[in-house]
Amino acid sequence: MTADEVFTVLDVGGTTLRIGAYDPGTDVLSRVRRVPVDGLHRDPGAPVPVLQRRVVEQIVCEVAAYTGGRPPRALGVAFAGPITAAGLVRAAPTVWGRRGDPLPLGELLTERTGAPAVVVNDLTAAAWRYAATEPGDFCLLTISSGIGNKVFRGGEVLVDADGHGGELGHWVCDLSADAPLCDCGGRGHLGAIASGRGVLAAARRAAHAAPAAFRGSRLASLCDSRADGIDNRAVAAAVRAGDPFATEVLRGTLTPLAQAITSVFTSVGVCRYILMGGFALAVGEPYRRLLVAELVRLGCFGLEPEQIDALVSLGVADDDHGLIGVGRLLAARTPLASARGAS
Ligand SMILES: [Zn+2]
Repeated sequence: MTADEVFTVLDVGGTTLRIGAYDPGTDVLSRVRRVPVDGLHRDPGAPVPVLQRRVVEQIVCEVAAYTGGRPPRALGVAFAGPITAAGLVRAAPTVWGRRGDPLPLGELLTERTGAPAVVVNDLTAAAWRYAATEPGDFCLLTISSGIGNKVFRGGEVLVDADGHGGELGHWVCDLSADAPLCDCGGRGHLGAIASGRGVLAAARRAAHAAPAAFRGSRLASLCDSRADGIDNRAVAAAVRAGDPFATEVLRGTLTPLAQAITSVFTSVGVCRYILMGGFALAVGEPYRRLLVAELVRLGCFGLEPEQIDALVSLGVADDDHGLIGVGRLLAARTPLASARGAS
């Protein structure tokens, strides 16, 4: 495998930039390097235009260092934010903060690296990873510090040209005046309630509200019986160990998530839901089982309870979704990928 045959792929999130080589001929990702992102996370006080310049500069430098200064054959970037079909980053709250003008990242990187650059939303890239193995349409759901989703149907991720879509995390599911606040500033959004962060807040509230039940729980034994000492790792471990206290807390947050899934199911008929994200995968199979139980309780119109179990599966527990996914997307959009060796 030479540098000419592989794609250079990147995954740029709020804290970590990953870069790797994806071989479209063998579908293998290799030589992954990780560095901290030179954005908001490292310098929270810097103005957005400064951080935008630094992040672009960092990507250009990392690519040059990675390929030894030669333009890569093609460059694929999975990026944490809504992105238009033309590669314009409309927002990147975790990378350079809330405000700031849209950034034509695809255009800038094509110009600066000399390689055709494709920039897509990170969850869109992740959906392409699963598109290779899923036999039909599916909805990818990520449950980590926030919640996101993407529907993959008929060979494409369903978002409009401006990048709208896949934002179930900002669906309002709690209308009460004191509903939890979302990262986006809105109140009662699914991402504030059913994300890892939402479950953690619910666990602490439950521990304060029912101190005796908390003290007798497995969860308490994992955090010195202090409500404020609860973290996601403890919640995940307690649920996996079958702790009734932690399980009830999690179940409460799964109701609105199950409602969101039934609404996607009843509106567009997608019959496969793949769960990824640090929190859901840390809990693992018990998370999937509890979610299925909520879906059975709510009902999925037209499905028997035993069919509902087959709706939901767990994704792969690694950090390579964006890299492998954007590599597969590039391969699908580069018809010469397999023919090149023969020409
Ligand atoms: Zn929100």
